[in-house]
Amino acid sequence: MPERYDSIIIGAGAGGLSMASILSLAGRGKILLVDKAPRPGGALGGFTTNGIAFDAGFHFTGALNDGGLFDRLLRLCGVRDRITPKFLDPDRANIFHFENSSATIEFPYGLKRLQSSLKSQFPGESNAVERYFEDISRVIEATPALNLATAHLPPKPLKEENITLKTYLNGLTDNRLLRETLSALIMCHGSAPSEISMADNARLCFGFYESVATLQGGGEALVNAFLAELAERGVEIACGEELVEIGTVSERKAERFVLKSGRELETDELIFTLSPTTVASILPKQHFPPAFFHRIESFEPTPGFFTVFATLPEDVDPMDADSITSIYPVDDIDALSLPGWKGPGALAIIHSESTGGKTVVTAFEPLYWDVVESWANSTRLNRPQEYLEWKKSKTEEILRRIISQFPAYSGKLEWETSCSPLTYRDYLYHDQGAAYGIKHKIGQMNLVGQARLRNIFFAGQSAILPGVLGTMTASLLIARIILGNAEFANLIAQHSR
Ligand SMILES: Cc1cc2nc3c(=O)[nH]c(=O)nc-3n(C[C@H](O)[C@H](O)[C@H](O)COP(=O)(O)OP(=O)(O)OC[C@H]3O[C@@H](n4cnc5c(N)ncnc54)[C@H](O)[C@@H]3O)c2cc1C
Repeated sequence: MPERYDSIIIGAGAGGLSMASILSLAGRGKILLVDKAPRPGGALGGFTTNGIAFDAGFHFTGALNDGGLFDRLLRLCGVRDRITPKFLDPDRANIFHFENSSATIEFPYGLKRLQSSLKSQFPGESNAVERYFEDISRVIEATPALNLATAHLPPKPLKEENITLKTYLNGLTDNRLLRETLSALIMCHGSAPSEISMADNARLCFGFYESVATLQGGGEALVNAFLAELAERGVEIACGEELVEIGTVSERKAERFVLKSGRELETDELIFTLSPTTVASILPKQHFPPAFFHRIESFEPTPGFFTVFATLPEDVDPMDADSITSIYPVDDIDALSLPGWKGPGALAIIHSESTGGKTVVTAFEPLYWDVVESWANSTRLNRPQEYLEWKKSKTEEILRRIISQFPAYSGKLEWETSCSPLTYRDYLYHDQGAAYGIKHKIGQMNLVGQARLRNIFFAGQSAILPGVLGTMTASLLIARIILGNAEFANLIAQHSR
């Protein structure tokens, strides 16, 4: 006899952990969270090298201010009081260096502070700045999912869904540097300004306009917070496991799910939080039309990152440690974000505290899969010499760029390790090492919500919006579909403040 669960969730990253949390809150008594990796967390978790803990994916977030969406979502999940945010410098949380035009732009948070800072850095552009933030606010207000009190309501139609960020900004101002500044946060979602709608970019960025924070203990602290909460609620977690078969379909409902270990399961709802390509490889082909799979094939993964992890000894004072420093070699973020860019890419540098007094310096350069594709058949313990040499020289190039930005680190910065899209593919199981799942292109129909087989649902970072906040928002909205509007509204009313 198959083992029975109320809910089964495939993937225990930010999407799966938050989904399990919301469904357990809604009274699902028997929940199983399945993950292929040896430990839950996915891109939210960390790793340890030379005794130093590093964040694998997630480094910082928006909207963790009191009453912000992330703050409220974490409270709903019961984990907010288990983590400690570290807010970055409100006056210069982000610093953008445009090398071509030798311009440095400080990008604060707090809507009023941000607007007045931009107005003073771009004299003569006050109207454009005001209009931009009015339009952003209108998109956010028309997106009920971004507010727990209204998350049960359908979204309102918006003209900003049908215009790309690039076209919108071209119509907003002739000031190129302001346009690039307002595009700069696309590093946090991976779709180029000419690909993403103004509306989705607004939804992805508004949290960073409110506040920017890292977490004490990194993403791993949030993973541990979820694990502690889910353990108290009796959620079972099976790591090193995979769903390998969906069988016995009756009345558009799958009645049998088989795991790699041979365990047979049945459930009222199975929620995938994996990449669409992985989901497509598991779904029973005969129960979906070919067009469904063609749609999935047409999705394009976001770039991954080439990441260099380094440390500074205790006696070296970190520079701009409460800011994220991003360097753009040309004033053309669209060109830098599309496939085919040759030369050094954009680079984001983040400082964080490590145990033992050292400062961790992490530098991320977006990188598409095609750069590493010729080594795709290698495994993590068996990379060819050519790849290792390329990785070494890429690492040296990025270390040089860090030193050129922070000359005081010369001779002090110690390289610890580097990751390429191949590394992310092999450790996080992300298709093509993509950092944020699939691109969210204008007009695209994502793999989201309820499948043709009624007890199968799609969530995770590729469903609605990426980033940890976007991923958890998807969990909230898919939970709404699973529970139905009335039960969902009741749940939110009972458990959110
Ligand atoms: C380098 C990097 C930096 C990032 N920086 C930030 C940041 O600073 N801020 C931010 O908000 N976001 C950041 N992100 C993005 C953010 O981490 C993700 O959007 C989010 O964590 C995705 O959550 P998820 O649950 O959808 O996917 P994942 O975290 O990938 O979780 C999916 C889980 O499914 C498991 N899995 C995969 N295949 C299978 C299978 N066949 N069967 C069972 N389990 C499987 C995986 O092991 C994994 O645990 C970053 C991502 C990367 C890679």
